Amino acid sequence: MIVVLRENAPKENIDNLTSWLNDQGIKVHISEGHYQTVLGLIGNTTGIDEQFLQSLDIVSSVKRIGEPFKNANRKFHPDNSIIDINGVKIGGGNFQIIAGPCSIESPEQITEIASAISKSGAGILRGGAFKPRTSPYAFQGLRADGIELLEYARKITGLPIITEIMDASHLPLFENVDIIQVGARNMQNFELLKELGKTKKPILLKRGLANTIQEFLMSAEYIMAGGNEDIILCERGIRTFETATRNTLDLSAIPVIKELSHLPVVVDPSHACGISRYVKTLSLAAVAAGADGLMIEVHNNPSKALCDGAQSLTPEQFEDLCIAVNKIREAL
Ligand code: PEP
Ligand code: MN
Repeated sequence: MIVVLRENAPKENIDNLTSWLNDQGIKVHISEGHYQTVLGLIGNTTGIDEQFLQSLDIVSSVKRIGEPFKNANRKFHPDNSIIDINGVKIGGGNFQIIAGPCSIESPEQITEIASAISKSGAGILRGGAFKPRTSPYAFQGLRADGIELLEYARKITGLPIITEIMDASHLPLFENVDIIQVGARNMQNFELLKELGKTKKPILLKRGLANTIQEFLMSAEYIMAGGNEDIILCERGIRTFETATRNTLDLSAIPVIKELSHLPVVVDPSHACGISRYVKTLSLAAVAAGADGLMIEVHNNPSKALCDGAQSLTPEQFEDLCIAVNKIREAL
C-alpha cells in the first residue's frame, strides 16, 4: 500500500502516522521526492483501513499496490533513483559507460585496457576475477589476485571498479570493490541476494538468462528488503529460439522496467549478442531507448583473450563507440 502525502505535511504529523503504522506491524519506507512525499507500507496491510488513512489531513491519496515488488516499485518512489559511487553517478539523467575485459588476466592487460577506456570516456572499470564458466575446464579467473589487480588499475586510472561475486563466502574479498556484480546465472541465488542486502555496496544485478522482468525485479527486491537500496539493473540479453546471436537483447525491458521501477537500467550488448561487430549498433539502440548506461567488454588483444574474445571490442573500437553514443545522447 502507498500513502501519498499532501505538500507541506508537518513533520510531526508524518512521524505520528509512521509510528502508528509501526505499532500495527507495518514497516514504512519514506520517499521524499521533488514534489511529493510518499510512504511505502511494507508488511501485511490487510488490516489497515484505507478510508481511515484517506481521512487524515496530511494524506492526499491511498493506493493498494498490486505488484509483489515494493521497494523496487516506482509507485513507492516516484523519482528515478541515482546511485552514487564516490561521485560517479548512474540514473536520474546521469549516464555511465562501464567497460573492461571479461576477465582480468595480468597486470599489463588490465592496466593497459583501463587507461585506454578511461581516455575514451568510460566512467567505471569492469573485470571478472571469479568467472562463471559453462565448462569447469575453462579459465576460471584469477580470483583474489584478480581483485587485487583491479584495485591496482583503479589506483592508476581513478576509475571505480566493478567485479562479479559468485558466493557470499567471498564477500570479505570484495571489501574494497566499488560495485558488486551479480551475474545472470546467480540472479535467483536468493541466499546470495539476502547477504548482499546486508551490505552497503552498490549492486549491479544482471537479468537471468531466462527470467521475466517481474522475476528480475523480485530479485532486486530481495536485496532491497535487506536494507540495501543501491541497485543497478542490467539487461544482458535473454535466451530465445534465435541462434544467430549468443542471446537476444530485450530492448523493450528498458521502457518496461522504467515504468515499473525507479532503479537505473544499464544494458550489456556484449553478452547479449556475443559478436563484437554488433556491439556498437546495439549500444546506440539501447541509449536511444533510454538506458542509463552501458556495460561493454573491451580487450587489448581480443583474439588472445582468455574469455569472451569474440564479443570484445578493441580500445579503438570502444573509442569509436563512445563518440557515437555521445552523438545519440546529444540528439536525445
Ligand atoms: C560478465 O559480465 O562477465 C558475465 C559473466 O555476464 P553474464 O552474467 O551477463 O553472463
Ligand atoms: Mn564476458
